[in-house]
Amino acid sequence: MPVHEKTLALHGGAPVRSTLLPYGRQEIDDDDVAAVVETLRSGWLTTGPKVAEFEAAAAEVAGAAHAVAFSSGTAALHGAAFAADLQPGDEAVTTPLTFCATANSILYQGATPVFADVSDDTLNVDPAEVRRRLTPRTKAIFAVDFAGHPADLDALSEIAAARGLVLVEDACHALGAEHRGRRVGGLAAMTVFSFHPVKHVTTGEGGMVTTNDAALAARLRLFRSHGIDVEAHQRQAAARWRYDMVALGNNYRLSDIACALGVSQLRKLPANLARRRRVAERYTAAFSKIEGVRTPAVRAEALPAWHLYVIRLVPEVLRADRDDVLAALRAENIGVNVHYIPVHTLRYYRERFGYKGGEYPVAEAAHAVEITLPLFHAMTDADTDDVVAAVDKVIAHFRR
Ligand SMILES: *Cc1c(COP(=O)(O)O)cnc(C)c1O
Repeated sequence: MPVHEKTLALHGGAPVRSTLLPYGRQEIDDDDVAAVVETLRSGWLTTGPKVAEFEAAAAEVAGAAHAVAFSSGTAALHGAAFAADLQPGDEAVTTPLTFCATANSILYQGATPVFADVSDDTLNVDPAEVRRRLTPRTKAIFAVDFAGHPADLDALSEIAAARGLVLVEDACHALGAEHRGRRVGGLAAMTVFSFHPVKHVTTGEGGMVTTNDAALAARLRLFRSHGIDVEAHQRQAAARWRYDMVALGNNYRLSDIACALGVSQLRKLPANLARRRRVAERYTAAFSKIEGVRTPAVRAEALPAWHLYVIRLVPEVLRADRDDVLAALRAENIGVNVHYIPVHTLRYYRERFGYKGGEYPVAEAAHAVEITLPLFHAMTDADTDDVVAAVDKVIAHFRR
């Protein structure tokens, strides 16, 4: 590893890297481009053969019987909230340490998100806290596989089964992750994925719900296309003009153009997961030796997909807070980020539900010290070394 100047770039020293390493980035190959071009020339732009092909491939990868494509992960979460039959007056328990879309999807159905604090090791929702938040109005649990580490699915499934709740797993970080040797996708009642460019597989914008329940799959398809009982391509095939609208749905369809990209991208998932796991291993090996840095925990039953690599600072041994360290790493051209601002502390949630902060101490404490480091499958070992060198340099500077 090259020896870098000790003066922080923040203080005028030479940065570890001359160009910014982003925290996440997609990779589009020539065969991805060719797949999209082929579909553009095929005559089908939306809801044609590529949607069915992408759904079948995603169902297989996720180990589920059914997969229903949506126009985004957010639309897919909304679909899951609809299929779970969330209605005004209902509650769904979820985690505050997630992207706001998870909780928003509960609100879209007029139901109320009830947050439960996270476990300190994985930062996934804590089943004991979920139990504390159950009321007679609770209808569903929306768990998140934070950073790609599966949620505590054994305990959450047990709660859901005992109370007759629908378990929805927001696996937008976790395509390819495993729980007890089984892929996430068929372990909860519904599992939601995102194909936004920062995720493992991209369609530009896109999402998917996987399930083993045929009735839920049917409700998801209904909701995706206006609540109309027959999709346009089926009507065309059957030369039928008559249709009925049986529920209030939306246009949340994903196009054939996007799905062509998805089919091509999904083929690269194994290599992509292997690469992310290698970067995570190198990070953990290096950061375990740096005092002041806490590495992410991995439970025995979990094989994470490593969407994010989130370190936590140990404030007791540092003369700086998270924002100082984050600014110093940015100056070294390391594209650091923070996941997430706890949802209950966002203005909309504070104003609507009266949160003041302090309600979810584990999530809030984690948020105060967390930093997301670059992690994407096109990262080289040299990129990884740069991140390690920059963290080492910055933490050494701020250590007491
Ligand atoms: C990305 C993401 C979403 C939203 O997915 P979009 O495809 O961007 O709509 C929801 N939940 C989590 C945890 C995510 O990371």
